[in-house]
Amino acid sequence: MQPDRPQVEGDAVPGGETDLFSKFDAVIAMREGLLASGVEDPFSLVMEKVLSPTRAICNGRETILLGTYNYMGMTFDPEVIAAGQRALADYGAGTTGSRVLNGTYQGHKEVEEALREFYAMDHAMVFSTGYQANLGIISTIAGKGDYIILDIDSHASIWDGCALGNAEVVPFKHNDIEAMEKRLKRIPEGAGKLVILEGVYSMLGDIAPLAEMVKVAKAHGAMVLVDEAHSMGFIGEHGRGVAEAAGVIDQCDFIIGTFSKSVGTVGGFCVSNHPKFEIMRLVCRPYVFTASLPPSVVATAATSIRKLMHGGEKRAHLWENSKRLHLGLSKLGFRLGTDAPQSAIVAVIMPDLERGAAMWEALLKEGLYVNLARPPATPANMTLLRCSLCAEHSAEEVETILGMFERAGRAVGIIEG
Ligand code: PMP
Repeated sequence: MQPDRPQVEGDAVPGGETDLFSKFDAVIAMREGLLASGVEDPFSLVMEKVLSPTRAICNGRETILLGTYNYMGMTFDPEVIAAGQRALADYGAGTTGSRVLNGTYQGHKEVEEALREFYAMDHAMVFSTGYQANLGIISTIAGKGDYIILDIDSHASIWDGCALGNAEVVPFKHNDIEAMEKRLKRIPEGAGKLVILEGVYSMLGDIAPLAEMVKVAKAHGAMVLVDEAHSMGFIGEHGRGVAEAAGVIDQCDFIIGTFSKSVGTVGGFCVSNHPKFEIMRLVCRPYVFTASLPPSVVATAATSIRKLMHGGEKRAHLWENSKRLHLGLSKLGFRLGTDAPQSAIVAVIMPDLERGAAMWEALLKEGLYVNLARPPATPANMTLLRCSLCAEHSAEEVETILGMFERAGRAVGIIEG
């Protein structure tokens, strides 16, 4: 409210005006209904103190973190922290400008160099978040008259990138190679085509059949963009993602990633071998019209990415623990998002939101934090308790976690016994 304007009775919603908030009534009712059951609000938990990549104080008690994207545990790496502190002292708290004006510092060049080396690709472009990387790259490369063919379970940032551009958007059934091919066949001859896939789908933790999908996309003359947000640093021999593990990374035109998961800070990027890629820096609006990342953030990211190049042992340990957790939970009788572990995400399917929230709260009381996920983020209207492992969890900690799930699952009636 402007301070110099006198307040008029009923000013908030003047007579007869449509309340623009009425579209949120269903969400408000859902939230109120959930809280009326007496359960703690699962969407406003506060991390009162963060002790390590795997431990925090929540509601005054030490809690094991099993619902972060800190896959490689880099947030507290001493070299990463030291690099951030040095950059903060040497370059200040922020850049106060766009990458194309005053916002490119030495650190931004260095993190892009680290990404080029990490992926062995010619070009790397850093955005302020992974969300913006998808928004920017997708809306800029697929324009009027072009076609985007994408998995229906794509992340919100991919859908928003499609909405921001002017291309025709053609979704296909999740991970269905035939459905994808059918859509590709129907696209008019000569039209520009961009196939968008994800390495790991973050809700159920399943991976895409990239070897086959990339082959089909290429056979139909499409360019391919793969979002490897949840696989970078972990999957593939060098941690380059599912495209590397499937042996098709050289055929991917664009890899999108984020610093907010395995890298352990914040930021997003696109790497590519396209010879004209650098023009993106001038034409991509979510890159141009926003401030660049703070120097401390790019310094932590560059240090972390270089360390992830040598993360082979951590990757092996994370795989072991992902398998241990998946096997343990399925033996206890929980319904999981995948039959076999495919990533560091293990999704536990809840019968409904009420019991999901009750289970979430029971686990928190046991001293375990997991993510509660609900539609529209989840596919098929599912309520999920999403567990994501960190390379810093020990094998013993996974056993402790299984004990917590067993007790909470029995108390809430999700499993028998
Ligand atoms: N892509 C995928 C698949 C994601 O899951 C996410 C974040 N959860 C993003 C992009 C966006 O990343 P950021 O947090 O860097 O905005």
